[in-house]
Amino acid sequence: MKILTIESTCDETAAAVITDELDVLSSVVASQDELHQRFAGVVPEIAARAHLERCLPVIHEAVRKADIELTDIDAVAVANMPGLAGSLLVGVTAAKTLAWLLDKPLIGINHLQGHIYACQVAFKKPIFPCIGLIISGGHSTIYHCRSAFDFEPLGGTIDDAAGESFDKVASMLGLPYPGGPALSKCALNGDPKAFAFPRPFLNDSSRLDFSFSGLKTAVRYEIAGAGAVDFKSLEIDDQRKADIAASFEQAVVDCLVGKTILAMQKSGIQRVCVGGGVAANRRFREALENRVAEEGGELLIAPMNLCTDNAVLGAIAIEKIKAGQVDDLSLDAVPGLIRS
Ligand code: ATP
Ligand code: MG
Ligand code: FE
Repeated sequence: MKILTIESTCDETAAAVITDELDVLSSVVASQDELHQRFAGVVPEIAARAHLERCLPVIHEAVRKADIELTDIDAVAVANMPGLAGSLLVGVTAAKTLAWLLDKPLIGINHLQGHIYACQVAFKKPIFPCIGLIISGGHSTIYHCRSAFDFEPLGGTIDDAAGESFDKVASMLGLPYPGGPALSKCALNGDPKAFAFPRPFLNDSSRLDFSFSGLKTAVRYEIAGAGAVDFKSLEIDDQRKADIAASFEQAVVDCLVGKTILAMQKSGIQRVCVGGGVAANRRFREALENRVAEEGGELLIAPMNLCTDNAVLGAIAIEKIKAGQVDDLSLDAVPGLIRS
């Protein structure tokens, strides 16, 4: 069985062809980073328009690279939640049209659950039950994942997402968008202990939550004080920039790692799966690997290209097909997060 998966929740237009054995026959990702760069963040209207232009070429490329014909596809899956409304609509409409045209089953999937399932694809072994950590541009949530259909949120950010804080701090430091990779590169030359930035809730073992907004403000004060400032014209010494970047990154990593370990301890679950763009962060990967090993647990983090948005995460549709959970053409885009 071959499934065509489509992803357009935010600013990556992606398509993949995956078999029910979880073999990835092709995976194509068209990033829009260059379109959003000058705004230092995703502009929803620009994203939706770019998806429209790229959606069909990306699908054709995925089918071509898989060395099949469109008519060889047995099912069509699409991430229909959560995400930006205009972006989601493009992928959902394309998927519905193809499913109708080919007369094949249509499956809507939850993008966040897909981020975790990417670990099952990458390691080709069952991942449930596990503690699932999603750390991306829009979310930072810890789940107890009982099955592909049962994700119980245990905690998460009460304000900004981890990736969003990377993007905003990078912007303050005059680093390019997307901020995560640029900031971690800059941090390589810095001292992570140079500044004692806050680590909210880290010592509160009663909750599994994050808060990155105050951390971002603390970095802002360190860079420019409390007054109004034009960050673009700010001159920051290279070493100071690297020290701020490293100290900020370490604070985020300490919070993410600390709460993930706490979730393991509280739930007694020994397997941890991580997904989302921030999981590409090297300092985070190393720190979590060490701590999970100390706990005697198992850590599965998908390779970098499966951490950021891609259509391989749509492979979770295979679980839905096996369980008979197929959608019909009334499938809609659901921008908000459904707690499931
Ligand atoms: P969501 O999945 O919540 O809908 P999204 O799809 O925009 O959001 P992803 O593509 O999963 O998010 O991740 C993008 C985020 O990951 C950006 O905020 C980016 O800065 C961050 N990121 C990417 N690489 C790194 C890195 N090496 N270190 C830290 N952050 C990173
Ligand atoms: Mg993106
Ligand atoms: Fe994502």
